Amino acid sequence: MVRVAEEWFSICGGCEVTVLDIGEPLLDLLPKLQFVHMPVLMDHKIFGQTGQGTKMEIPEAEVGIISGGIRNEENRELAKEMRAKCKILIALGSCACFGGIPALANQFKLEELLDKVYRGSKSTPPAPTPATDIPPLTDRVYALDEVVKVDVYLPGCPTAPEIVAQALVSLLEGKAFSLPERSVCDDCPVKREEKADISLKRPLESIIPEGQALEGSRCFMELGYLCLGPVTRSGCGGSEKTPRCIKGRMPCRACFGPIRKDANPLVEIMGALSSIGLDPKTIPDRAATFQRYIGAQGRLRPLAKRP
Ligand code: SF4
Ligand code: SF4
Ligand code: SF4
Repeated sequence: MVRVAEEWFSICGGCEVTVLDIGEPLLDLLPKLQFVHMPVLMDHKIFGQTGQGTKMEIPEAEVGIISGGIRNEENRELAKEMRAKCKILIALGSCACFGGIPALANQFKLEELLDKVYRGSKSTPPAPTPATDIPPLTDRVYALDEVVKVDVYLPGCPTAPEIVAQALVSLLEGKAFSLPERSVCDDCPVKREEKADISLKRPLESIIPEGQALEGSRCFMELGYLCLGPVTRSGCGGSEKTPRCIKGRMPCRACFGPIRKDANPLVEIMGALSSIGLDPKTIPDRAATFQRYIGAQGRLRPLAKRP
């Protein structure tokens, strides 16, 4: 029996649902797994069941899974406790792997954010920043591996249930698990002509009609829709291969993150757009648009104050 501990930090909860969404493969896995800590499923309290503890404690486990980035000091402390108690640590979802959507906030200083939320919002009366009974916020959103060592990365917003199942099966068999270093384009069935003949457009509706086959349809980017497939790691399509958003007739927004850890998707996508004749400078807010899910790890920084 493999003991599993799971925690959630700064998240929307979608990645937790992914674990529950594994479906039938989870039934096969369950007899081999013992969940010893998982806030979304069980009432195991980190200060002891009656709150008698003086420090946060997680039970020991062979596998630890963390979803969400680090946004407050409690997240930071729990990440260290999980690392200390779990032999293998998995970062689940783009928030844990790269900061995810919450790390878009890294474009602003913490004080600016607090001012905006507690004193600059038109819909609420101004109030002091809460300072008691809640953990202090960190200066910015951190990806999990900026605080503790991560052994396995399962990116995606949310990640695909099939990938979670594959990773767990690999770990149960004592094998390492990692996604291949391929791009979303490598698994995309559309036709590329290496040239766009129109300017960039906004993807507000399906790019090709629902009934039309993807095979033989033109590459979305060449039709003028910003698709981040060239700079995004593949894997979201699972065994079916076709990337999830492409299957839904929408461009890739890069939730699986960079193809390699040291890649620079901001520079690479500018090159990819230019190479087919599209002008990346026509996209406002380029840094955040191209790095929507990967704003931690130093990629998004506070902007200079706008006039
Ligand atoms: S990666 Fe996406 S789905 Fe998962 S917790 Fe973050 S925002 Fe939610
Ligand atoms: S840019 Fe987008 S639509 Fe074009 S091949 Fe790559 S993933 Fe497919
Ligand atoms: S196509 Fe891109 S944005 Fe959509 S799920 Fe796959 S990696 Fe994420």
